Amino acid sequence: TRATLAQAQKMETIGHLAGGVAHDFNNLLTAILGGASLLERRIGAQIGQEAGQILSAIRDAAQRAARLTHQLLAFSRKQALTPQVIDANKLLKGMSELLARTLGEKVSIQTVLAAGLWRSCVDANQLENAILNLAVNARDAMPDGGTLTLETGNVFLDDAYAAVRPEMKPGQYVMVAVSDSGTGMSEEVMQRAFDPFFTTKPEGRGTGLGLSQVFGFIKQSGGHVSLYSELGHGTTVKLYLPRHLDDTACEAVPEISYAEIPR
Ligand code: ADP
Repeated sequence: TRATLAQAQKMETIGHLAGGVAHDFNNLLTAILGGASLLERRIGAQIGQEAGQILSAIRDAAQRAARLTHQLLAFSRKQALTPQVIDANKLLKGMSELLARTLGEKVSIQTVLAAGLWRSCVDANQLENAILNLAVNARDAMPDGGTLTLETGNVFLDDAYAAVRPEMKPGQYVMVAVSDSGTGMSEEVMQRAFDPFFTTKPEGRGTGLGLSQVFGFIKQSGGHVSLYSELGHGTTVKLYLPRHLDDTACEAVPEISYAEIPR
């Protein structure tokens, strides 16, 4: 599925809406959480067991809602990024334990890291976040186990390629691919996978914000995202990160709206 102009505009609109709603919701949730905690402290010992359980259920639900609004805010904030010169191979190696824990024992991890990989300019924390998001999706797509493959490479997107994929700017990129041998996606799911709030996961499991966050972050960083998926075979998400050129500093990326994201 292509990351198109329409996609960016849709995210712009939803981002505004979500940000506004999330902000108000956060205030209300603070009141609910505060009230429930206060009640528990003041009368927790006096009320019966059943009432106590109801009270803690209220607190748990409010806490879950607070986590969700937090994610929403992160998505809509389009926070300023702090790109630094990074070695994506090193970053992936540094994540190996976290990834192994996230994926569990049934999934094996394979790495195909390119020698002589270019440096790239990207916010390292956000990139780790994005890769973790992709790994969680991969895990969910492989309930019976499988293989997660991490691959890196130097990619030169030439004009001919850009002609076929008009949303991709020609140039030099560091490619980081995350592949799984999971369920894959139907054509319909692929079309909507990057839409904020689109999820096929059961309630409480998915927010539908993972891929849209990855998309927004990579676009804001001056890169591209590609999605390949085949039902029954697996999925590959490729991140194209802008190459760092020698003797230049990585430029800070200011807070921007999706409408301004360079394509
Ligand atoms: P969430 O994971 O919360 O559902 P995402 O935006 O990350 O939100 O993903 C949206 C949907 O795209 C998922 O619900 C799933 O249907 C599909 N998807 C994402 N990654 C994969 C994958 N690796 N394999 C199969 N389907 C995927």
